[in-house]
Amino acid sequence: MNKELTIIGGGLAGCEAAWQAAQQGIMVSLYEMRPLKSTGAHISAGLAELVCSNSLGSERVDRASGLLLQELISLNSVLVKCALETKIPAGRALAVDRQKFSDRVTEIIENHPHIKVFRQEITSIPNQPCIIASGPLTSSALSAAIAQFTEKSNLFFYDAVAPIVQKETINFKIAFLSSRYQKESDDYINCPLTKEEYEQFVRELLSAERIPLREFESQINQGVTTGKDRFFEGCLPIEVLAKRGQDTLAFGPLRPTGLHDPHSGKRPYAVVQLRQDNIAASLYNMVGFQTNLTYPEQKRVFRLIPGLENADFARYGQMHRNTFLFAPEILKPTLQAVNRADLFFAGQLIGIEGYLGNIASGLLAGINAARYLNGEETITLPQGCMLGSLIYYITHAKPEDFQPMKANYGLLIDKEESQKVPKQLRNQKFYENSMEVIREVSKQLGDNH
Ligand SMILES: Cc1cc2nc3c(=O)[nH]c(=O)nc-3n(C[C@H](O)[C@H](O)[C@H](O)COP(=O)(O)OP(=O)(O)OC[C@H]3O[C@@H](n4cnc5c(N)ncnc54)[C@H](O)[C@@H]3O)c2cc1C
Repeated sequence: MNKELTIIGGGLAGCEAAWQAAQQGIMVSLYEMRPLKSTGAHISAGLAELVCSNSLGSERVDRASGLLLQELISLNSVLVKCALETKIPAGRALAVDRQKFSDRVTEIIENHPHIKVFRQEITSIPNQPCIIASGPLTSSALSAAIAQFTEKSNLFFYDAVAPIVQKETINFKIAFLSSRYQKESDDYINCPLTKEEYEQFVRELLSAERIPLREFESQINQGVTTGKDRFFEGCLPIEVLAKRGQDTLAFGPLRPTGLHDPHSGKRPYAVVQLRQDNIAASLYNMVGFQTNLTYPEQKRVFRLIPGLENADFARYGQMHRNTFLFAPEILKPTLQAVNRADLFFAGQLIGIEGYLGNIASGLLAGINAARYLNGEETITLPQGCMLGSLIYYITHAKPEDFQPMKANYGLLIDKEESQKVPKQLRNQKFYENSMEVIREVSKQLGDNH
């Protein structure tokens, strides 16, 4: 069989897939449309650009992202290696310097002897072995081709980006450095609010002007029910969250738990946290502040936060289209299209949320595309590991309930088994079981993986 593979999209999933397949001797042509054509959210020409948060999630293994991280390390993920090389301090989260991360991935991919990178937009589905990993902002021509291929299974909704603040413009007479429950740690900048300040902030946030959604963004494809204000729960704009109740933010992204204000000696009523965004520690992103306010309103309302009264914003928050397939109808758990064995999909486009989940789906698609081309059986991951359970979910969910999904321990829960283990030990048990499953998968993949 011809051992050539086309991959569309040089993002997280496409780069991981390209490297995995290339390591198995496959000749990969990787097509990335940037910088010739922009997605509207990416700002560089680099491969694997992180468009919003620079955090890949918690490293703690009792958190789903920490478990997925360990699974990816065991499965030899090249992007996770790059993330660990470009890591910056962020408490127990794996945060990276986004520029250095992208540079490192670009260098490895462009210099791989089996990968050729083309800067070109692909507008139709190739009639040869292919992985489509063109992401949530797939270009409209390719989206139309995918919509035609999948018939009714393509729809749009929204994702949002949080603003980034220049550290030198933050007032440290009010703001303080600390991680939750770790006073001695200086990984986060915290802006404390009293009850009155919090209430005023929420009032102004709710009445602030928003950018109207554009026609194409509220488009509903093929009768799939969605609506103008449909957002993914995990990435709700702060103003939409605030609308749910006066104290929703104070119990959510602005919760003060584990934080003590050294200036007042008190626990604040609410706290806005900012997380380091670059190695130089000159930029900080506002945690949970994805927003669709107009830029002048962001400046006005976010400057009401104590400590940010003179803040300069290196980037304002934004909202974007997010495209995904109805994976339960379109994909097998091997990530092959149900009706075309040489066509694979990966990344956010298949309804996986989260940087690590998208890297992981690229890894599986790359391995399976290589196995397919090498005449080997493609693998289905057991549900006993985090990645296997995530892929199982998106390929087996009821189409009418289908929503993009992030790695979470809920996916792994086996009710009968979990009842035998005390609650506080469950995640540890899941972790041990998952890693056992992944060791078996690694054995199955063989030495040269
Ligand atoms: C505004 C926004 C904010 C987000 N914030 C977060 C966040 O904070 N945390 C998080 O975990 N996830 C976030 N996401 C989701 C994030 O996009 C994914 O987690 C991750 O980047 C998806 O990886 P991917 O490889 O599927 O897509 P991408 O990383 O987007 O890669 C797809 C690539 O395909 C290219 N491409 C598109 N169409 C074509 C074409 N026709 N031909 C050739 N190339 C093409 C694009 O230029 C892009 O480089 C956000 C998404 C958006 C849009």
